[in-house]
Amino acid sequence: MNQSEDNAFTEADFLYDKEVVCPLCEKKIKVRVVKRSGLRLIKKDSDSLPYYKYINPLFYDVWLCNHCGYAALESIFLNELKSSEQDLIYQRVSSHWQYREYPPTMPLETALDRYKIALYCADIRQARESEMSMLLLKMAWLHRLKGNSEIEKRCLANAVAAFKVLYEKGNFPVAGMNESALVYMLADLSHRIDDEKECLMWLGILFNDRQAKPALKEKGRDLKYLISEEKKKAG
Ligand SMILES: [Zn+2]
Repeated sequence: MNQSEDNAFTEADFLYDKEVVCPLCEKKIKVRVVKRSGLRLIKKDSDSLPYYKYINPLFYDVWLCNHCGYAALESIFLNELKSSEQDLIYQRVSSHWQYREYPPTMPLETALDRYKIALYCADIRQARESEMSMLLLKMAWLHRLKGNSEIEKRCLANAVAAFKVLYEKGNFPVAGMNESALVYMLADLSHRIDDEKECLMWLGILFNDRQAKPALKEKGRDLKYLISEEKKKAG
């Protein structure tokens, strides 16, 4: 993409349709995919929520079947479903589902609706913590973008619970994070849900972790500084 065209881009320029087969109803469906190669990162929040120019890929991360209502994150949507999972989703989602089309570009509200359906499907399937934690974290991010901090915190608290189970299980990497990155994430999210005690506990683990990269420890120190500043302000 050359510089002179820079401002001519729209969200639609970063999207394309791909045909896949729904793992539940086995119908061919079109899913909208983000062209990752063209993305330009502007910044990241401390818990890794990325902001890109022109498009928010997060809005497109849930794939959904227009025919049967099955929805999941892109990374797991095509995974085979057990017959017990299929039965449950048929009963509790598909039997009430009416065929629907989604707009070519996804408004925040529409993206949130699709995440809610994906979370409901994941809940019904009793999806693993690695899947639940990422869904909840991404939903929390959408609520952050919407400015709804109360629901954001509720999603984050649930994500923290799922991340803690993953930490205890210890099969790293989990959800794309090695052990130190997960510990930082738990510290960061605990701070965001106002659980200072937990946050400091995770930071303690991070500071004692010999495997943790210096940049991650630095982030941890920034967080600790932020907490001490907040304490001063609170008096
Ligand atoms: Zn389907």
